[in-house]
Amino acid sequence: MTLPTDDALVHARDLLTYLHAAPTPHHVVSETSGRLDAAGFSPLDQTAEWPATGGRFYVIEGGALIAWVTPDAGASGHGFSIIGAHTDSPGFRIKPRPDTGRAGFRQLGAEVYGGPLLNSWLDRDLGLAGRVVFRRPDGFGSLTFRDDRPILRIPQLAIHLDRDVNDKGLQLDRQRHLQPVWGLGDVDEGGFRSYLGEQVHLSPDQIESWDVLPFDVQPAALSGPNEEFVSGARLDNLVSCHAGLGALIAVSASAPAGAPPRHTPVLALFDHEEVGSTSATGANGALLGRVLERITLSAGGTRDDHLRALAGSHCISADMAHATHPNYPERHDPDHPVRLDGGPVIKINAQQRYASEAVGAASFAAACERADVPVQRFVSNNTMPCGSTIGPLTAANLGIRTLDVGVAQLGMHSIRELCGSADPHRLTRALVATLHAS
Ligand code: ZN
Repeated sequence: MTLPTDDALVHARDLLTYLHAAPTPHHVVSETSGRLDAAGFSPLDQTAEWPATGGRFYVIEGGALIAWVTPDAGASGHGFSIIGAHTDSPGFRIKPRPDTGRAGFRQLGAEVYGGPLLNSWLDRDLGLAGRVVFRRPDGFGSLTFRDDRPILRIPQLAIHLDRDVNDKGLQLDRQRHLQPVWGLGDVDEGGFRSYLGEQVHLSPDQIESWDVLPFDVQPAALSGPNEEFVSGARLDNLVSCHAGLGALIAVSASAPAGAPPRHTPVLALFDHEEVGSTSATGANGALLGRVLERITLSAGGTRDDHLRALAGSHCISADMAHATHPNYPERHDPDHPVRLDGGPVIKINAQQRYASEAVGAASFAAACERADVPVQRFVSNNTMPCGSTIGPLTAANLGIRTLDVGVAQLGMHSIRELCGSADPHRLTRALVATLHAS
């Protein structure tokens, strides 16, 4: 039996704090930027001119954030060393006209977001969080809120009314069976808007629109008899956001004393991965390419300098990986077992559902060795479909070498996922080693 080290548990407890602070992509960005501010990073406005001197910077666009460190002389010219991850998780989004109800219950209309394990959302105590856009004299403003009270629930049908459920499996109609209840009484047209008004201290008629989602109010926890597990919502993919953030801050803090990395370290946290990444803030959009080009141009580089920098760049796309499930080992490739707490996983797929290729895999494995971190390799069972990540999109859009890696977990896309408590710290150390080597 191997037990998580004290360092790993300190890191895992900080991960719990990060998970708790971030029920929505906007909260992820807000928590991340707060930590960057504390580490000496400054926000930049994408519509303003950027400083020609180097420094620690970040930009925010909706639920996406990109942060980087340039040396004092400006962009390094050797290219970018990018860590990518995503801020969104599968679940639900509250509809624009959500007030509904039936049989004496008030309910909210909710649209499925991405590919959640729908069954895992049943009979959980759910809160609400998100962003509210409101009218003000000079235009519009937005406010985030979170309500940690257990105010919503998607009740499962009793077994007496669904006798086959355990033998034939649960059948859920996405339109009819997933409307959360949030009170008793008649349908209250405008009730949700009034609720939002109370949450952000505005009058309901000022509220124009919202991005609001339900979340599990049970906080993430270290679990298992020896705290060998992290159990919680949104491990996919906040474990990677947290690890990438920790790595960037560690590298930026060590830069003045030692030799700065030759590459410009970049952290890119995208929204909308769970719905295909094609959006203004997704990995299949223009955001990262635009920011990278401006890093070069604002330091006095030319377009030619930038294209040469891109040609010398590389990306690690960090997203969660499937551990071999003890109850379903036949779903996995028998020669590529992936252990929980067995170290970061290099994800390989011949159909390029993952972007990994041999050179990137070799250099990541070498970085893991320098960081004294074990490394694992995942390939799908040939009879199973394979998920995908932001990796192939980043590789294709920017034309740069990309490697898909991640922490092993069980229950991917469940409302309560499970990973090892030592692996998050190991991923961070491996990412630090990767950035330092560049
Ligand atoms: Zn993911």
